[in-house]
Amino acid sequence: MRAHLSSEQISEWLAYDCAPDVDQHIRQCAQCAVETKRLKNLLGVFRSSAIAWSALHKDAEAPNRWKPPEQRRGFFIGVPRWKLAAAMLAIVLFASVYKNLSDRRREAEAFKADVQLWEEVNAQVSRQVPASMEPLMKLIAWEPEANEYNQ
Ligand SMILES: [Zn+2]
Repeated sequence: MRAHLSSEQISEWLAYDCAPDVDQHIRQCAQCAVETKRLKNLLGVFRSSAIAWSALHKDAEAPNRWKPPEQRRGFFIGVPRWKLAAAMLAIVLFASVYKNLSDRRREAEAFKADVQLWEEVNAQVSRQVPASMEPLMKLIAWEPEANEYNQ
């Protein structure tokens, strides 16, 4: 097992922002587990006292971000509005760019299909006899000059 966790790693674990191996270390190492539990309880006591204080002082209500995640209301509470607006703008821009690209691709495919159809129709129209008649035409030698001499 590697060395015990640093205070920075423990802080990241407390903020639910740690690497998977840190979480695994806490589960396997009794010393680090005790330390993280002690700090978590200490933070819980501090949070509770701050919320209780703000409950007594109605004009100074605790911000939603101070509350533990399970007590917060709404999914986007605590996220600054400009971040939500930027995320929405990025989604809209991405969707419009993607739609524009897929429309262009669809138009290009339709154009190719039109060109192919045009070439097929042109080839059919420019034939002297229909394709189904070609085997018969090979049996009959068409020589108009020869017919004129026979008359
Ligand atoms: Zn440890």
